[in-house]
Amino acid sequence: MSGLQQVTREAFGKINLGLDVLGKREDGYHLVRMIMQTVSVADTLVLEKTEEPGIVLKTDSGQIPDGEDNLVCKAARVMQEAYGLPGGVRITLTKRIPVAAGMAGGSTDAAATFLGLRDLYGLSLSDEELQHLALPLGADIPYCIAGGTKLAEGIGEKLTGLPPAPPCHLVIVKPDLFVSTGWVYKQYDSTGIVKKPDLDGLIRAIREQDLPRMAALCDNVLEEVTAPEHPVIGQLEQFLTERGALCARMTGSGPTVFAIYENRESRDAALSALRSDDRFKGFESFAAEFC
Ligand code: ATP
Repeated sequence: MSGLQQVTREAFGKINLGLDVLGKREDGYHLVRMIMQTVSVADTLVLEKTEEPGIVLKTDSGQIPDGEDNLVCKAARVMQEAYGLPGGVRITLTKRIPVAAGMAGGSTDAAATFLGLRDLYGLSLSDEELQHLALPLGADIPYCIAGGTKLAEGIGEKLTGLPPAPPCHLVIVKPDLFVSTGWVYKQYDSTGIVKKPDLDGLIRAIREQDLPRMAALCDNVLEEVTAPEHPVIGQLEQFLTERGALCARMTGSGPTVFAIYENRESRDAALSALRSDDRFKGFESFAAEFC
């Protein structure tokens, strides 16, 4: 048991450089093939031991549950029950990752809770053991525990390490609208989309550190569902591409768009143009890098 009273952890958001849907399991989960990448848009969690048993969550976000429905509380409960952790824990969550954005905000907060409690209590557990414990809470959590550039298969839990994607500069922008992940997958199932992203080519480009080819092969089948429904996604992609992006694509089920730039100056110029355009007023936007 460690003598620590408090630990702080950054919880990084993710984007999908590539996303393909391969089918559906009998239990309703979709089988996917995704190239995942953590980005430098991050929440911060401070985890403190308390004498009082239980879990207390404080968050600055009004958009997520602050009680036991929060994935952070669910993760903490799983750890307390699995390892009989003494006393209680107070968790302060500062949210920066847009909510319901396709950036795995809840999953990465849960992952940071698993990792933070391992450190706080000095538990000798491997990442694999934590990933196994975390999977019932969400298929993206095992990846968020690992982070970096990964191929995720199965329902997202079968991870293969890839070399770090070539360095570049990103604009990440979340339009001011809500997209239901459940609705997107349902539409995907009923519309019979046949488009197949070239994920093997994308993996090769990453291995060869070929940024322009990697960017050209970034692709997401769910964009075929979400973008026609919300034309602003296409407008954002066009706007960012016209300002020098190698590519602009949607992440997850949307509605967030990321754009990849080779140099920082053109990224910064595109981001300030975006922020001063009335069509995109109120959208959450970030300058970011891979991490
Ligand atoms: P994914 O990319 O995995 O589909 P997402 O980025 O689309 O995830 P989240 O930000 O994880 O979506 O939020 C999805 C839902 O989860 C929200 O409606 C929110 O109420 C709930 N939720 C529970 N805990 C959290 C948390 N710590 N942070 C964000 N959302 C949370």
